[in-house]
Amino acid sequence: MVSELQFLPFALPEIGDEEIAAVAQALQSGWVTTGPQTKFFEQRFTEYLGGNVESLAVNSATAGLHLALEALGVGPGDEVITTTLTFTATAEVVRYLGADPVFVDIDSSTLNIDIDQIRSSITPRTKVIMPVHYGGLTCDMTAILRLAKDHNLKVVEDAAHALPSTWKGQLVGTLESDATVFSFYANKTMTTGEGGMVVTKQPEIAKRMRVMRLHGMNRDAFDRFVSKTPAWYYEVIAPGFKYNLTDIAAALGIEQLKKLSGFLEKRQVLANRYNELLDELPLILPPMPTGNDVHAWHLYVIRLDASVKKSRDNVIQGLSNLGIGTSVHYVPLHRHPYWRDRYSLTNEMFPCADSAYRSMLSIPLYTKMTFGDQDRVIAALREVLR
Ligand SMILES: *Cc1c(COP(=O)(O)O)cnc(C)c1O
Repeated sequence: MVSELQFLPFALPEIGDEEIAAVAQALQSGWVTTGPQTKFFEQRFTEYLGGNVESLAVNSATAGLHLALEALGVGPGDEVITTTLTFTATAEVVRYLGADPVFVDIDSSTLNIDIDQIRSSITPRTKVIMPVHYGGLTCDMTAILRLAKDHNLKVVEDAAHALPSTWKGQLVGTLESDATVFSFYANKTMTTGEGGMVVTKQPEIAKRMRVMRLHGMNRDAFDRFVSKTPAWYYEVIAPGFKYNLTDIAAALGIEQLKKLSGFLEKRQVLANRYNELLDELPLILPPMPTGNDVHAWHLYVIRLDASVKKSRDNVIQGLSNLGIGTSVHYVPLHRHPYWRDRYSLTNEMFPCADSAYRSMLSIPLYTKMTFGDQDRVIAALREVLR
């Protein structure tokens, strides 16, 4: 059991002195809610993606997904096709709008949504395809965008894992989707505590999301503060939401974004090292991108080979006994009571995701990990799988 050695957590954010100073400055500035820091964060995010998009900061990726679908006109009677191997937020926003998610299985080799099954799930009610770049590996966006075009569907990318990931050399967020949503939750590739960014190339979609982000008001508090027309005047044009990001969080985000390429490099080094050092264990290692595409390495997901006699749950327990934190991404949505019962889903309907789920675990991968930490994970896996 673990004695002197500390428990190695599954994930940890990396917050430096720069972030702490920036947050302190935001607190001292007198403007703590959405204001100049948020505007600057959005500008910097757009620059990071190469300039050709509008970025809207929100208080979670869940909020961003909701805003994107709302702006695309998703409502009762509509269907949104997505993967069963995702976090419930991907699908719950569809229900917020009274529409129905349609779950499809994954491709066992990539763990991403199965393109052929998207095609066979399209009905006259289908409005949106919502791919999830699982773990940071980009879905086949060429195929998804072509399918959407052929059937006159919209595409909203759940890119909560994919900052930064590329498809055929292009950053996720700059492809021809209708909107792309990133998460800055504590364990994502950069964090604002809670927060997200929704990006789009379409001015009309951006405009609607901006209004709905703040109560359906046509001017936000900062606009009113800096404008020459009466500061007290605004008009409500829709029953909107309260999804704006604070300047405190944005100040943190600005500093994290500066470090993002360094964070990526660290994740790549650790992932490559896992790939090498876990190679001879009875494991299926994470799928790699085709060509030279960038994998964000939000998660490092391993699957137990069929030859392993222990169950996944036993392996997780064994690692925990040795002081190693792990997680499972995800209990697929078809196994959760709400989704299973509402849409009469069975495990047999999703053989690939279900089998992946039964053999998978995510092992620690984060920028604060040392090679020593990583060696502990590898040694523990060796021992548990022996
Ligand atoms: C983290 C996550 C979300 C939700 O992000 P929040 O910022 O916590 O709302 C959505 N989808 C996926 C796939 C995620 O991993």
